[in-house]
Amino acid sequence: MISPTDMHRINADLHCHSNVSDGTLSPEAVAARAHANGVQLWALTDHDEVGGQHRARDAAHALGMAYLAGSEISVTFAQKTVHIVGLGFDPDDPALKQGLADTRNGRERRARDMAADLARVGIPGTFEGALKYVGNPDLISRTHFARYLVEIGVCADPHEVFKKYLTEGKPGFVEHRWAKLSDAVRWITEAGGIAVVAHPGRYDFTPNEEYALFTEFKAHGGQGVEVVTGSHTESEYEKYADMAKEFDLLASRGSDFHSPDESHTDLGLLPDLPARVRPVWEALEPRILMP
Ligand code: AMP
Ligand code: MN
Ligand code: MN
Ligand code: MN
Repeated sequence: MISPTDMHRINADLHCHSNVSDGTLSPEAVAARAHANGVQLWALTDHDEVGGQHRARDAAHALGMAYLAGSEISVTFAQKTVHIVGLGFDPDDPALKQGLADTRNGRERRARDMAADLARVGIPGTFEGALKYVGNPDLISRTHFARYLVEIGVCADPHEVFKKYLTEGKPGFVEHRWAKLSDAVRWITEAGGIAVVAHPGRYDFTPNEEYALFTEFKAHGGQGVEVVTGSHTESEYEKYADMAKEFDLLASRGSDFHSPDESHTDLGLLPDLPARVRPVWEALEPRILMP
């Protein structure tokens, strides 16, 4: 048994991406980087995919790092995109795999529509251009378009691409309907995992909408929230630690690392969770497969 204080000090990074979704490194390279940065408990959470899970687990265990299965599911809630991270589930669960396949399904159509939109504002060839950056043909994402627009000099960095294109109201943004919140939480939970609201500080919700998200998430069986993430400011660590207490949710921690060149937060380098919250990995301890 690990004591509660020691539990808080475990260097857990439970949110990051490989080239199985929109990261640039292979699952093995992400594992090596996490390990080199001192991560002790790791989860690879590719968008809408579990295709890298066995490789990630094997790489983690070869390095002596504990591993939890992970994925970040795209959900539409109150007409906005919300991300739900699943942790500690069975990556071979058939219903979860089918749900993720259905969620990925519309991505190619959406990417073709995005490219048509960008062509209309004088930027042709972006579907083919984005594809050059895609590691998994089932998972073409806005990030791949952003990398191509930087390559051809339309913008200086991916962040500028998202500001000028690809986001609501900008050319290149295509409305998309992702999974339902209830389905995403159920897929994760029925596969034996814990559902976690990813980076709640990133959504432009009103306080009422945010309250509705947390309330419905809980009602569907969701159990966790990201408190310390590369997407939050220090004041958001405190705000969402309070929300975790108010809604009786477990707290998670993850960098959301995508690439050594693009990510401002590297694997395993975030502060510890505030002492007043209960780490999600405490509840997942029996499911952590030690090497
Ligand atoms: P998609 O799932 O295709 O809609 O792409 C979403 C991904 O785009 C996110 O997971 C991030 O990796 C990336 N992204 C979203 N907003 C930004 C931003 N402002 N700057 C850089 N990357 C972003
Ligand atoms: Mn991403
Ligand atoms: Mn996300
Ligand atoms: Mn992410």
